[in-house]
Amino acid sequence: MEVATTAAKQALDITSKVAKVVSDSSVRSGLALIFTMHTTTGLFVNERESGLQADVESALSKLVPANSAYLHDRVDDNAASHIQSVLLGPSLVVPVTDGRLDLGTWQSLFLAERDGPRQRTLVIKVIGDDR
Ligand code: ZN
Repeated sequence: MEVATTAAKQALDITSKVAKVVSDSSVRSGLALIFTMHTTTGLFVNERESGLQADVESALSKLVPANSAYLHDRVDDNAASHIQSVLLGPSLVVPVTDGRLDLGTWQSLFLAERDGPRQRTLVIKVIGDDR
């Protein structure tokens, strides 16, 4: 699955795109694995609320501030982006029930862009039974 991020730092809601992949599959009961193929993105599940998204952004920047004498900055000046991605992790596993993502009421899936904007590739594997 291809997604285009539009900012340097961004939480992009990918729920509907992933849900489409799941509903287009034959799996009725199983698991959806979502994996980002990049070292400066991460994935997380949380509430889609603009204040919360700003809070997450603020917290990541405080935990891993830019320009902090990182060794990797000698290469391409984006060590903070890599480290923030490490904290978030590269994958999610979501239950599939009755052929759809089995998410809680307030849960959405987000791609966390940490060094954009860029075209990003996610791999989605839907595994399970067709009944
Ligand atoms: Zn780098």
